[in-house]
Amino acid sequence: AMALVLAACGGDDSSSSDNASSGSSSGSVKGKVGVILPDTQSSARWESFDKPLLTKAFQEAGVDADIQNALGDKSKFVSIADGMIQEGVSVLAIVNLDSATGAQVQAKAKAAGVKTIDYDRLTLGGTADYYVSFDNVKVGELQGQGLVDALTKSGKKNPTYIDLNGSPTDNNATLFKQGYDSVLSKQTGWKKVGDQSVPDWDNAKAVTIFEQLLTAAGGKVDGVLAANDGLGNSAITVLKKNGLKVPVTGQDATAGGLQNILAGDQYMTVYKPIKDEAEGLVKLTVSLLKGEKGETTGTVEDTQGKRQVPSLLLTPKAITKETVKDVVADGFVTKAELCTGKY
Ligand code: BGC
Repeated sequence: AMALVLAACGGDDSSSSDNASSGSSSGSVKGKVGVILPDTQSSARWESFDKPLLTKAFQEAGVDADIQNALGDKSKFVSIADGMIQEGVSVLAIVNLDSATGAQVQAKAKAAGVKTIDYDRLTLGGTADYYVSFDNVKVGELQGQGLVDALTKSGKKNPTYIDLNGSPTDNNATLFKQGYDSVLSKQTGWKKVGDQSVPDWDNAKAVTIFEQLLTAAGGKVDGVLAANDGLGNSAITVLKKNGLKVPVTGQDATAGGLQNILAGDQYMTVYKPIKDEAEGLVKLTVSLLKGEKGETTGTVEDTQGKRQVPSLLLTPKAITKETVKDVVADGFVTKAELCTGKY
């Protein structure tokens, strides 16, 4: 494992090109867009990937964008939204902190004649014109299948496992769980010995929660379904403290998660090419600004509002030790970042 880490961290960095395109924005679009990201602690993705990729994509499309982060604070989320509506955005895109706050913000926007888009997380009971995300049930299925592959490979008979789920207020966490539980519950002889959600995807709380789950399971477990790289790292911390090394899953292909994979502490992650998600948001925004119909791949059900939301859903990809290089080749993380990773 160490050799792999060193191989990944050494050598030249030429494969990490930025794929920088001309950046020339021929014919800029009228109207401003506001984007609210959720926090900095639930995943490294929002600040490390989404913010720079969105900034670049809006710039290239010639759209004036105000991108802010609510830092996990719901009242801050609402006041950012108020400010954006005040400054006259025509489109407001949000990653909600929970559906209630998201729906409240979208109702205000609607009343002010502002179109809204759900970015990555669907707002249940909301009024978004569009939803752009990945196929989140598929994300969960890849995680479940990853754990099945790992434990099958190791020849473990009748393994026990723990589900460490995302935030109970994030509709994605529900969809991920739907996906992995559908795979795991089909495994004959497998036994789930723990199943807990982590409020706000909080990595520190996840350590305490996982400690308790492991204790309740008698101090041993054969595999961990962790819903993202940050939660996976929390589980790994506890496992190590207890002298255990078992397959752990993840999500987001963060530098920290990829490092854990190269070190052999994490079995897999789910790579979601956020560049495509960011560009998807930009395209839908432009269509709203132009009063045209946006390109979608189908609809997603808002189970609370009982409506079908026009959606653009992208395809996630499972990554293991053998394919970490693909994420680097794609320009998602650089070798340099791989060597100084965060979650
Ligand atoms: C996103 C994940 C992320 C998690 C925590 C989910 O809604 O889809 O990519 O890891 O939130 O921020």
